[in-house]
Amino acid sequence: MVSILIVEDEQPIRQALTTFLSDSGHSVEALASGMDGMHRVTEGGLDVVVLDLGLPDLDGGQVLKMIRAVSDVPVIVATARDDESEIVRILRDGADDYIVKPFSGAQLQARIEAILRRTADKSDTGPIRVGDLRIDIGKRSVSMSHRTLDLTRKEFDLLAYLAERPEIVVSKRELLAEVWHQPYGGADKTVDVHLSVLRRKLGETAQDARYLQTVHGVGIKLVFPDS
Ligand code: CA
Repeated sequence: MVSILIVEDEQPIRQALTTFLSDSGHSVEALASGMDGMHRVTEGGLDVVVLDLGLPDLDGGQVLKMIRAVSDVPVIVATARDDESEIVRILRDGADDYIVKPFSGAQLQARIEAILRRTADKSDTGPIRVGDLRIDIGKRSVSMSHRTLDLTRKEFDLLAYLAERPEIVVSKRELLAEVWHQPYGGADKTVDVHLSVLRRKLGETAQDARYLQTVHGVGIKLVFPDS
């Protein structure tokens, strides 16, 4: 069982996340202030902390620094501010991931699972679930609505790379470096061609994307589909 601490001052959000994550089989503790959260972290025994940035007593950024002074526990920062410089600062201060409000319990759970996968032994973690997609990194298999998809090696690597970072925009340059191991660019069309085939196999097109959303001029992200 995964032990999660939520530090969030807004009661309805705290309650909703606690209920969702508890129903998913996790052990959840929820606190409303930065000081309380900080004290709880020092007691240890947590697998992940979800930390709201806008807290009444202390700024979440301060709380994050205090946590990092005493613990390596993975921290996901929840922020209402979709502000590039703020997010960079938070990640530099030691956050493992961030999530922009409003977000669903399902998305938070996927982030938590992704973090635990990165910090845990890769062999004993389950498949990544995004909507109807199940991506099993260990078995190198993908299914959609329980139907196995026939992907090539690079199509799988591409999808897996994006699935480990759901809702996060990844640049084509990063994909070329990390999936194709071409850190200095290479043929930009490589990514486009593979994306196009992958989209077809997922039953979507660039014009009518469900899972693979292009952010023009920035890159691509795997998202939770609307339906
Ligand atoms: Ca708040």
